[in-house]
This record gives sequence, C-alpha cells and structure tokens, in this order.
Amino acid sequence: MELLEERIRRDGVVKSEGVLKVDSFLNHQLDIDLFDAMGEEFRRLFADAPITKILTIEASGIGIACVVARHFGVPVVFAKKAQSINLDGEMYTTRIESFTHSRVYDVIVSKKFLNADDHVLIIDDFLANGCALNGLIELVDEAGATVEGIGIAIEKGFQPGGDDLRHRGYRLESLAIVESMDPETGEIAFR
Ligand code: 5GP
Repeated sequence: MELLEERIRRDGVVKSEGVLKVDSFLNHQLDIDLFDAMGEEFRRLFADAPITKILTIEASGIGIACVVARHFGVPVVFAKKAQSINLDGEMYTTRIESFTHSRVYDVIVSKKFLNADDHVLIIDDFLANGCALNGLIELVDEAGATVEGIGIAIEKGFQPGGDDLRHRGYRLESLAIVESMDPETGEIAFR
C-alpha cells in the first residue's frame, strides 16, 4: 500500500536489532485517516470473506483493529495479557513470546466472545517472527472458529513469521512488507 510505504519512509525510524519505530503514526500517536485508509484496503482485500469478528492483541493492535472493524461492520475482540490465568474453563488461553519485550505472556480471550460459528479476521500492527499471530491462531482454534485471514500493517519480510504463515496456507495480507532496513543510513526497502 503506497500511502503506508511513503509514511514509513518519511517517519519510520530504523533501530538496531531489526526494530522499526513508527511511534508518530502507528504505535503511540495514531493517524486515524491513515488507519481508515488501511481499513478500506483490508475490506477490499477480504471482500469475499464472511468475517464475523476481528481479533487482535493488546495493546498496539487495538486501535487499528477498531478502525478496520468499522469497514466490516463487526465487533473487535482483543486478546488480553493476563497476570495470572484462572483455570475455571471460562477462557481460551495461550502463551505468547513478545518480540519487543523479550518475555512470555499468558494471553486470554473469554469464551463468551469467540465461538465455533465465528469467521475471524486477525489484525495486528507488526509481523516479525509470528509469535503473536501463532498465539492468536491458537485461540481461534481452541474456540473451533475459522481463521478467514490475517491482516498486518507492517510485515518485516526479513524475519520468518510471514513466510511461515503463508507456507502453512493462511491467507495473509500485509499492507507494507519491509525487505530490508539499515540502521546506519535509515534506508528502508520494500518487497
Ligand atoms: P512477532 O510476534 O511476529 O515476533 O512480533 C509481532 C509483535 O511484536 C507485534 O505485535 C508488535 O507489537 C511487536 N513488534 C515486532 N517487531 C516490531 C517492530 O519492528 N516495531 C514495533 N514497533 N513493534 C514490533
């Protein structure tokens, strides 16, 4: 998506260790007009899919998911990072290793908000190694629901998550795929 790539080139900051900072429009200050254009594009890309729910993970996926959801006219459910898991059977649970904070979180979704009839579009801001998405897919599988597709704002194509998910047959649409980025020059190349 041209608009997003231009914005990443203009305002993205390449950090060391493969991290791209996009705090000024995607992760801290949020550009809602840009989110709206992204929502419209996801709607076009998944026009034929019978989506009943958008699933994301707190915190940075929520803003994008909410704007995307308006284009599909369906609710957003976000997976919560839990302090402790209450094993009363009311929750779907999984564990996710955080790329940016290098720690493992227990993640939950209430059984009230995801069930076997749901056709889910998973939305997130970044795709790196795929840990967050694999966790979200597990939650959908636990519910017996269907993963219709995965929509990502920025995929880092030099990390393995995206190619792995495509090989496993998931319908994955990333609006910008960063092929390489150089922390010395700040240069970013897209696939
Ligand atoms: P993964 O689970 O695919 O390894 O990493 C995806 C998650 O880590 C995303 O939910 C995102 O919040 C965070 N993340 C991964 N790489 C980056 C990055 O380069 N920049 C930012 N801002 N977040 C990232």
